Amino acid sequence: MKKLSLLIAITCIFYHQTNAQSSFQKITPIGFEKVQITDHFWKPRIDKIATATLPGCIYQTEIATPRIQNFINAAQRKTGTFKGLVYDDSDVFKAIEAMAYSLKDNPDATLERKADEWIDIIAAAQLPDGYLNTYYILTDISKRWTELNNHEDYNAGHLIEAAVAYYKATGKTKLLEVAERYANNIDSTFRLQNRHWFSGHEEIELALVKLYHVTNNDRYLKLADWYLQQRGQGTSKGWITPEYWQDVKPVKEQTQITGHAVRAMYLYTGTADVAAATNDSGYMNAMKNVWEDVVYRSMYITGGIGSSGDNEGFTKDYDLPNEDAYCETCASVGMVFWNQRMNLLTGESKYIDVLERSLYNGALDGLSLSGDRFFYGNPLESNGGYARSEWFGTACCPANIARLVASLGNYIYAKSDDGIYINLFVGSNTNVDLQNGNISIQQTTNYPWDGNVQINVSPDHPIKYKLFIRIPGWAQNQPVPGNTYLFLQQKNSSFNLSVNNRPANYAMQNGYAVIEREWKKNDVINLNLSMNVRRVIAIDSIKEDRNKVALQRGPLMYCIEAKDNEGKAMNIILPDNVKLTSNYNANLLNGVVTITGEAPAAKANADGTSVVMTQQKFTAIPYYAWANRGENEMQVWIPRKINEVKVTVKE
Ligand SMILES: [Zn+2]
Repeated sequence: MKKLSLLIAITCIFYHQTNAQSSFQKITPIGFEKVQITDHFWKPRIDKIATATLPGCIYQTEIATPRIQNFINAAQRKTGTFKGLVYDDSDVFKAIEAMAYSLKDNPDATLERKADEWIDIIAAAQLPDGYLNTYYILTDISKRWTELNNHEDYNAGHLIEAAVAYYKATGKTKLLEVAERYANNIDSTFRLQNRHWFSGHEEIELALVKLYHVTNNDRYLKLADWYLQQRGQGTSKGWITPEYWQDVKPVKEQTQITGHAVRAMYLYTGTADVAAATNDSGYMNAMKNVWEDVVYRSMYITGGIGSSGDNEGFTKDYDLPNEDAYCETCASVGMVFWNQRMNLLTGESKYIDVLERSLYNGALDGLSLSGDRFFYGNPLESNGGYARSEWFGTACCPANIARLVASLGNYIYAKSDDGIYINLFVGSNTNVDLQNGNISIQQTTNYPWDGNVQINVSPDHPIKYKLFIRIPGWAQNQPVPGNTYLFLQQKNSSFNLSVNNRPANYAMQNGYAVIEREWKKNDVINLNLSMNVRRVIAIDSIKEDRNKVALQRGPLMYCIEAKDNEGKAMNIILPDNVKLTSNYNANLLNGVVTITGEAPAAKANADGTSVVMTQQKFTAIPYYAWANRGENEMQVWIPRKINEVKVTVKE
């Protein structure tokens, strides 16, 4: 075993060196396995994944539902015993993937034993030819690969992702070997026979590229590309339209986002991955067009996407209802994946701006502060009847947000031949190998509560290279790329950058402040981003947001929740001249900066026969933190004028 893992490690290093020269992928990420998170905001959340989220996932997977039992039965070939839904295998794999990331930050022998135990069961369930899907093994194996929407390759994709993560975190290869056998089986069944098939729920494409990167076997890259090439035949099936599973046009001809949001995100993440590895500009151009369609016309200010529950996805341009917003947690997780890949392809920081927005708002909202309650949908308004759940029948979201938070280390740093990218402001340490030396980097910050970020760089010897520091769009008068959302008041670009306490000499490039110099041991960079409260307004085309304003501070969107506002949220109006102040409150919601002010509120008079307006002190909290104190009213978009307020006067 040890020999094999060493061999894979060597081929992996070799791959990265050769790929960097031949690919038009400009930037490679620094992986979670090389990043230690020390951040005061994220580290407690990552710890909570280990102590609350994962134990909950394990309980649900093993005890409360038959997900593990299906694998045990499959290993014993007990036909007729399958229980649950066709995609339930994926939840087991996603939980293992989350365990892998968690083990890196929080080594835990008990957790690792649990993962190994599951991996043994999964390996035992695999058929001799490599096929591995408990639904078909336990029902009728002759029917495998006959129903496009039965998630066989979706499950396979999550198996592969888990295997790659577990190998990277622990060096253990058993699950990786299972994943390779299955991928070989799929490759032989389809690509090598040129048998038409496509993934009814995309996911395997991005997973196969991960498998390619870790094994250096280009068979997996070819299979990922083959999957992409199969799309675009206008396939419909029952209630499923070609739009629903992104099959209207070949991927390279796609310009518009359609259908199921999570499917779309996984497809485009995989497409960007294949583009990076194959230098295929056709995929690259399509991705840019589709991305603009999403971000300019179909994204909420929270970075959430997929407004409709009917198709769990996209509808018409600018159709972004707030109370009925679907905004599945998994779709925001997918936005993080895809936007990272777009940044790596292009070197443009606007993709990280969107990633950060989805991460801190749309995705993080899906996880309770306690770590053991979840949102499937993340609306931007509630009349008070919406609560978090322990689990779901279709349980994609809990393990998805768990694996995202636990793998945060994947998104902070990246490197190119001549420089290092600081993409997210998260307290952390890493070591980066450049062509001419090694550099240790340490970030210290109280972000997102304040905008001071200290970056200590220490090369092993003086090295000239570029440091690319992302200056967020929100610090430069652009909350979101495009013109869909604007700050009500424009301000001068508000950031300061110094090196060793002197103003830094930098050039702006693709949204990054680029400092090029010969760096020496113990150089210190200080970035200060202004954390003023900003009012955001939306383009008139979004009719649900007309005459309304949303509050943003740093990367965080805010909301008004009834708990902090005399039991109501929907009765508050926020005229443009109301003064807003912000303060850190250590005792509220595990510590948050609140935004407060005095604003008009509509209330019933004493005998309940008419509505009166009173001035009321109001408090806004970060959107991610709402619904942690029971069901109550909430709104992100607050009316600016009295004629737009919903007066729901109830006692
Ligand atoms: Zn989900």
